[in-house]
Amino acid sequence: SADGTQPGTSLALDILRRIYGHAAFRGPQAAIIDHVVGGGDALVLMPTGGGKSVCYQIPALLRDGVGVVVSPLIALMQDQVAALQQMGIAAACLNSALSLDEMRVIEGQMKRGELKLLYVAPERLLTPFFLNLLRQVKVALFAIDEAHCVSQWGHDFRPEYIQLSALHEQFPAVPRMALTATADQETRAEIRERLALQEAAVYLTSFDRPNIRYRVTERGDARRQLLELIQGTWRGEAGIVYCQSRKKVEEVAAWLGGRGVAALPYHAGMEQKVRAANQHRFITEDGIVMVATIAFGMGIDKPDVRFVAHLDLPASIEAYYQETGRAGRDGAPAEAWLAFGLQDVVLLRRRIEESDLSEARKVVSRRKLQALLAFCEATQCRRVELLRYLGEESQPCGNCDICLEPGESWDATIPAQKLLSACWRTGQRFGVAHLVDVLLGKATEKTARFGHDQLPVFGIGTELDANGWKNLARQLLSLGFLVVQDDEFNTLAVAESARALLKGEVPLTLRRPTVSLSRRERRKRD
Ligand code: ADP
Ligand code: ZN
Repeated sequence: SADGTQPGTSLALDILRRIYGHAAFRGPQAAIIDHVVGGGDALVLMPTGGGKSVCYQIPALLRDGVGVVVSPLIALMQDQVAALQQMGIAAACLNSALSLDEMRVIEGQMKRGELKLLYVAPERLLTPFFLNLLRQVKVALFAIDEAHCVSQWGHDFRPEYIQLSALHEQFPAVPRMALTATADQETRAEIRERLALQEAAVYLTSFDRPNIRYRVTERGDARRQLLELIQGTWRGEAGIVYCQSRKKVEEVAAWLGGRGVAALPYHAGMEQKVRAANQHRFITEDGIVMVATIAFGMGIDKPDVRFVAHLDLPASIEAYYQETGRAGRDGAPAEAWLAFGLQDVVLLRRRIEESDLSEARKVVSRRKLQALLAFCEATQCRRVELLRYLGEESQPCGNCDICLEPGESWDATIPAQKLLSACWRTGQRFGVAHLVDVLLGKATEKTARFGHDQLPVFGIGTELDANGWKNLARQLLSLGFLVVQDDEFNTLAVAESARALLKGEVPLTLRRPTVSLSRRERRKRD
């Protein structure tokens, strides 16, 4: 056209303004729409709230035929369809909740070319009946939403998603899109391969959430540390506190309540009515702190959550990113705070080893845990680490604990060698507590019984106190220099990878443990 804009783009923009009421496209939306309208395949990676829906809805409106959207969540499909219908777009939804009559109505609409968008659950789509119906109508595109469900290693795995590659074989001329907000590189590669999207154009929006301040701290008195977070910066604000177990959720909520915090519990074991009431209060009232298991959060859209705190380690970096992403949706300053300790590391390791996962899955779980621990033990910007895991290179952010409190690194080579030696010299048959006793030269019944008070490592560790050694043990575990053995006593062994460190061939730089604010504060108060 005369002004140099592509006709496709201006039509799409016209729809965006007229039907959706948005002034302009965001990020790569326009490029994605152009590409798909032109018949190309696309892989769209965008954080939640990034605006994925228009990326397939507008191409469906601009192309001939019906856009078929695969989505795993019935409730979400129904919301989307209702929203589209309200905008005057002919949309419907095919799921297992439909009666035969309702199915017939949709079938008729399809055959008469009356529908522009059809949402369908994957198990429906793959039935012979539906595939046959699709062959009789014009299909504008296939959009596979929540495409990470194809990943066998993810927690949202749906076996039917794997069969979606059949679409490519049976409808080679129809453009296909896969969309997801889950973005670790492994999952991306899996989506491309399993959905036969190797040739698809990839559109990646930055996953950075610059208004979220990331802070990771060693666990001291975790509840007190949490209370300081809540009553300090975020007094009177809404937040979410994640705990591993239902029991801990109840305890922490009660404990906070006893200290004047408007805290409510939420977990899947609670009575449905109470759970719903708590969720309703969290969304409608100001300043509620929800103490919850990960059962809480999916689909909850509260823009002014000011902090997300983790009292236990999340399952992986992806899980951490999703959970902390619920903070600061309004763009105002928010905080992601996590406290972790030696016990987390030991426990999570053991949970993997003792699970009935296949060996292949254990390998993946170990790697995911390792990546999370590396993030926790980072000596450089947390955001750089987090985004690198998501496949983005970035610069130190100035808005994480490490950027804000720099100069905390120390040369841990010699203490690390001492701890590894103590583990080695005592025959790799003891847990952390005993190794610390040996290093500090503590005469205990155990050190005497095993003759460890005669070892050259006995009492050579005066440069750190017991806490300092435990911190170091945790860091060595996290970095994979120490391993927890597969027995019931959590005994430690020296890993093969520690050899170079022990020999003094490589140095080890670690972040100095942050003195927990709570301890310092309490001393001041006492
Ligand atoms: P996602 O599926 O990626 O989580 P949605 O498609 O639900 O995101 O969009 C999130 C919000 O952003 C919606 O309220 C939507 O109306 C809005 N939105 C999407 N694109 C635009 C745009 N170009 N301009 C303004 N708002 C937009
Ligand atoms: Zn930073």
